[in-house]
Amino acid sequence: MTTAYKALIDGQMIDTPTMLDVVNPANEEVIGRVPSCGEDELDTAVAAARRAFKTWSKTPIDDRRKVVQAISGAIKDNADELFRLLTAEQGKPHAQAQQEIGGAAAMSAAQSTLTLEDEINEDSDTRLSRTRRVPVGVVGGIVPWNFPVMMAVQKIAPALISGCTIVLKPSPFTPLTTLRLAELIKDVVPAGVVNIITGEDSLGPLITGHPDIDKITFTGSTETGKKIMEGASKDLKRITLELGGNDASIVLPDADVEKVAEQLFWSSFTNAGQVCIAAKRIYIHEDIYDDLSAAIAEYARHVKVGDGAQQGTAVGPIQNKKQYERVLELIQDAKDNGHKFLVGGDTDPTGTGYYVPITILDNPPEDARIVAEEQFGPVMPLMKFATVDEAISRANASEYGLAGAVWTADTDKGVEVAEQMETGTVWVNEFMHLSPFAPFGGHKQSGFGAEYGKEGLLEFTYPQVITVKREAA
Ligand code: NAD
Repeated sequence: MTTAYKALIDGQMIDTPTMLDVVNPANEEVIGRVPSCGEDELDTAVAAARRAFKTWSKTPIDDRRKVVQAISGAIKDNADELFRLLTAEQGKPHAQAQQEIGGAAAMSAAQSTLTLEDEINEDSDTRLSRTRRVPVGVVGGIVPWNFPVMMAVQKIAPALISGCTIVLKPSPFTPLTTLRLAELIKDVVPAGVVNIITGEDSLGPLITGHPDIDKITFTGSTETGKKIMEGASKDLKRITLELGGNDASIVLPDADVEKVAEQLFWSSFTNAGQVCIAAKRIYIHEDIYDDLSAAIAEYARHVKVGDGAQQGTAVGPIQNKKQYERVLELIQDAKDNGHKFLVGGDTDPTGTGYYVPITILDNPPEDARIVAEEQFGPVMPLMKFATVDEAISRANASEYGLAGAVWTADTDKGVEVAEQMETGTVWVNEFMHLSPFAPFGGHKQSGFGAEYGKEGLLEFTYPQVITVKREAA
């Protein structure tokens, strides 16, 4: 069944004369149609956000917290409906969709507890100087297709807590759950404070270039991030960019092979590898390389790839055709160059749905495309190293710097290695854990600024310093 969804502008659900189709990647069927918003809808949404900003920015922070908690509550109360819809449009298995929906509710509730106190710079006989935080204004939020709900909520929550209003654009590939959420929250959020508009990719540059938007918060590819930075430079909009990554894991020789094999597998294959912080290069010490690669391959052979809505599926399809073709192209390139496969390697899957079989490569060279590029698919290259220094320098030889992991029986040693990695987040003996209270952001070309934590919240504010001379004029 094809359902027509509406966009949220100024507290009203609206549609447009032309609509965009949304496809279920598991069977390539059209499952929804969404508004194709353009300049007119964007202007209306921005004007509504600007009007709402006048009162919202003056609304006490405790009241703003309540609205974010109500959004969190709406997600929680409707989790069952939302996670099924998320699987249908994104492809991830039900269990992972439940985690995303549950995570979006939990992360936004946690972010609602963040504070924005004034800071005293000087309190002397001569003067009192304090820094207060004022909201930047109207925010444009642009979201990718891999974690559509989590990414939307992680932009809406801090924007609202800080006193900003927002116009948010989901990816044209995965707008359905976000629009359903828009409908669910439209009566708990004052009109104009949150606007959610859908459209083609071409709507993105209109947001970036809109003269009445003050800040862009973007999650997506590094390529698009650069365009956003360029577009935002025209009127010096504030920007936060969460971009791509080619995250490395380093497995030290003392790691327990049986214990880490399954975790390493999921650090790469969660959401069919379509995670910015998935392990995309795994460096294993030569002493345990053969045993560990065999254990990972053995585990992989029992993992079911299929429709995320079917019981037993652990890895779903690639979310869209363009990405599906790109992942197959990378695997084909590895084949053409004679790289060895431990598992998978099929570049001509048959049937409907964007399924890529689980693929694990055996020690491809560092300059193989499958190693050097962000694969964003169910593909994992395992590489052998001899010394820890060598592994660190290979891990760091990337234009990206999003996240990484170290696996070892000696956590002190793990921290020592972690501190040498050039990434915004490094885990020791775990993966993908993000805290609502810790800044998450990329080094190098993986980003600009941070989300989450106090640091993430401050990105939605300007500092304003009020200095009062003690002696009256
Ligand atoms: P993408 O850059 O193609 O698209 C992201 C969003 O930007 C979409 O909403 C799209 O419509 C919009 N867009 C496209 N062109 C635009 C333009 N010129 N100006 C403004 N907006 C534009 O990314 P994607 O393919 O949706 O997502 C995959 C990428 O996102 C991967 O590289 C992944 O690593 C990255 N990602 C990063 C994080 C992070 O937190 N660092 C999280 C998730 C995904």
